Amino acid sequence: MRRRAQKELPARLEELAAAHRLSFGAVAVRHQRTRWGSCSPAHAISLNLRLLFLEPELVDHVLIHELCHTRELNHSKRFWALMQIHDPDWKRHRRQIREAWRTLPRWLHAGNGGSEL
Ligand SMILES: [Zn+2]
Repeated sequence: MRRRAQKELPARLEELAAAHRLSFGAVAVRHQRTRWGSCSPAHAISLNLRLLFLEPELVDHVLIHELCHTRELNHSKRFWALMQIHDPDWKRHRRQIREAWRTLPRWLHAGNGGSEL
């Protein structure tokens, strides 16, 4: 599963970055306990292995969210305005990924506290 994620997720991130003209520094795939992804001040994006269990549309939403953090490293109004440009359906997607976190397979040890980005 890890090998699959380490191949698929960075490849999709590259594609989306090119399509949306956003860039990032590095990408790593991890088994994070509390979040779908994160972005460091150096624009290194971490993606959760558990993304493999999401529909492609929602994976793209998470990847775009992290790519937007390379422009705005916060959840300010400016950040959500960027999301509106790159993922016009972001409000619905955000609800869906929160719901998806709660319904992940139990063997992934998903807690109820997570789903932050
Ligand atoms: Zn975020």
